[in-house]
Amino acid sequence: TSTRCGIDWLRAQALHKQELARFIEKNPRSQALALRAAEHMLFGVPLHWMSDWSTPFPLNISHASGAQVVDVDGHQYLDFCLGDTGAMFGHAPPPVARALAHQAVRGYTAMLASEDAVWVAEELARRFGLAVWQFALSASDANRFVLRWLRAATQRPKILVFNGCYHGTVDDVFVDLVDGVPRQRDSLLGQVTDLTANTVVVEFNDLAALEAALSNRDVACVLAEPVMTNIGMVLPQPGYWEAAQEILRRYGTLLVLDETHTISSGMGGYTREHGLQPDALVVGKPLAGGVACAVYGFSQELARRVEQAKRLAPPGHSGIGTTLTANMLSMTAMRANLAEVMSDAAYAQMFSLADYLAAGLRAVIGKLGLPWCVTQVGARTEFQFSQLAPGNGSAAALILDSELEQVIHLYLLNRGILITPFHNMMLVCPQTQRSDIDTFLAVFEDCLHQLKIRSP
Ligand code: PMP
Repeated sequence: TSTRCGIDWLRAQALHKQELARFIEKNPRSQALALRAAEHMLFGVPLHWMSDWSTPFPLNISHASGAQVVDVDGHQYLDFCLGDTGAMFGHAPPPVARALAHQAVRGYTAMLASEDAVWVAEELARRFGLAVWQFALSASDANRFVLRWLRAATQRPKILVFNGCYHGTVDDVFVDLVDGVPRQRDSLLGQVTDLTANTVVVEFNDLAALEAALSNRDVACVLAEPVMTNIGMVLPQPGYWEAAQEILRRYGTLLVLDETHTISSGMGGYTREHGLQPDALVVGKPLAGGVACAVYGFSQELARRVEQAKRLAPPGHSGIGTTLTANMLSMTAMRANLAEVMSDAAYAQMFSLADYLAAGLRAVIGKLGLPWCVTQVGARTEFQFSQLAPGNGSAAALILDSELEQVIHLYLLNRGILITPFHNMMLVCPQTQRSDIDTFLAVFEDCLHQLKIRSP
């Protein structure tokens, strides 16, 4: 059929063809770099998924500052992607830049402790209400390490995740529910272990399924985002987390909340905003203003249990940690970012901008009569291709349409607007202007106007 999500698909394809040509014509320097890159990098990019953006060849950027990115052909972009959260407080925040410049002549890594780490751990405890912290270089690693600590501490082999989740490159979580049956995600490369043996997967917002899955008391922990943000967005139903936490406690299963994206909810993440009580918490990406770092925290009680597990283990490699973890550059950047950038004032500004963006999106979608919805988690906003917001991962997966996304994303990109690839997520940072949002909304409306089904 030629209609999709209220869109005339034939017109969408015709428009996309024009936009591909327009991009090629407008970006000779990016194209020249892409030709060189093709020789010496896999798929012609430094990270293979960079070739999955909507552009016919990779857009190469020159620099970024605040809410703006400039490409090598000199085009300026209003950046609503913000490095898919890594730069969610704006590119190159001046306090982080100053801290990095100061550290630049004072060493980068020594595999030794420092005062910055002490300061940061104290600050994290204050913000998130968990007492004891460790560091990593990516949220993927932080999640991986937490799972290891918790399996060791509980002596339980299994973990539970929600269908459609993403927690980085943690192999254990690549298990989906396919027709109600757990199945290793087909796209996962090179994995030879049967992950379904120790990973239990249920739908988000299904308390009965959660309880049934935990009742054997062999699940060490639930690893979850408090709001699913990687399959479009799925909000918890009212009361869901309170009831879920109660079920976890009943069966001695620990709760790990991955706040890497939901840190958009406020200073202490969704956890603090909604009074949740996880045993462990993970945040990565934006904590050091975009410099590589991640953190994970434990309750006092859990910290004692994991320390005991390590003491009882034979000496040798724990499988936890990497050499550059907690290096001086990351730690100084994190300290500056926490002290001066991730402030209540910054959040207040971002919330007001995101409210303005979400209201504007709803207005445009409503005006054009498209059957789409808009979901917001603090500074994070997403439009999705269904009238009703999805209630779980399966429902959210059904309404993804990556081809339609690419049509819209490239149209926006050709007109100086970046939004996150692979779904329809937009972030605002303190430097985003209301006029930037107005510009985005006008271009978005033009795009949808060209795509929508015309009444006969
Ligand atoms: N957790 C969540 C919720 C994420 O969305 C991501 C990445 N999108 C990660 C962890 C992994 O982060 P990284 O790729 O920086 O390791």
